[in-house]
Amino acid sequence: MKIDVITVFPEYLAPLDLSLIGRARRDGIVSLDVHDLRRWTHDIHRTVDDTPAGGGAGMIMRPEPWGEALDALVPGPEVPHLLVPSPAGVPFTQAQAVRLAAEPWLAFACGRYEGIDQRVLDAASDRMPVTEVSLGDYVLFGGEVAVLAIVEAVTRLIPGVLGNAASLAEESHNDGLLEAPSYTKPASWDGRDVPEVLMSGHHARIQRWRRDQALLRTAQRRPDLLAALPKEALDRADRRC
Ligand code: SAM
Repeated sequence: MKIDVITVFPEYLAPLDLSLIGRARRDGIVSLDVHDLRRWTHDIHRTVDDTPAGGGAGMIMRPEPWGEALDALVPGPEVPHLLVPSPAGVPFTQAQAVRLAAEPWLAFACGRYEGIDQRVLDAASDRMPVTEVSLGDYVLFGGEVAVLAIVEAVTRLIPGVLGNAASLAEESHNDGLLEAPSYTKPASWDGRDVPEVLMSGHHARIQRWRRDQALLRTAQRRPDLLAALPKEALDRADRRC
């Protein structure tokens, strides 16, 4: 997968050199380039923002550097899926991460200040898919943290990136539920024991316990997820839980 990130703070993306993403880049599974938007400015101050049309607080990112950046990085005919982090975007979910992991080329436009002039997104959507995507119902300083989160969520789904791909199957949000609690050794710690069933070696009982715990946790913490599960996703034993 090819990934381009355009930002006024390239240093913010440095963690993408670390850990499993760093290894995926070194192994050639992911090719990731971070571009400084100010490269496409032409004044001595390298200005990327201006006052809002119609008045109001804050500054808006000017369209010209963005237009030039996208022209330079996407000369065509192949185009990326352009993702624009925004608190006004559609909520980013695991289902979306799965879809994005199958795409060959993603580009990210990181907003700062009060965001990017809307005409940049309108013009881009004439020649490539554009999605405004939100990390959650809160406001960050800029799109960079959202890019770190989205790139992690997407790239870990690409075959070869995770050491043990089987771990993806039982994770939270994979089957619409939150994952059951996890334990490791020692069997007893600080007066607290690992649940007996997990020490039983009885595979079917362990699976049933994990499923019940996942259902209970989801009901307690995210009833919205449980309500959204299709009926056929629950078996008879689930309904007894
Ligand atoms: N004026 C914008 C609004 O009210 O919708 C908020 C701008 S915010 C201060 C600056 C930038 O941070 C945004 O352009 C976006 O790139 C990023 N950002 C802030 N909150 C975000 C969120 N919840 N999800 C994704 N990106 C976010």
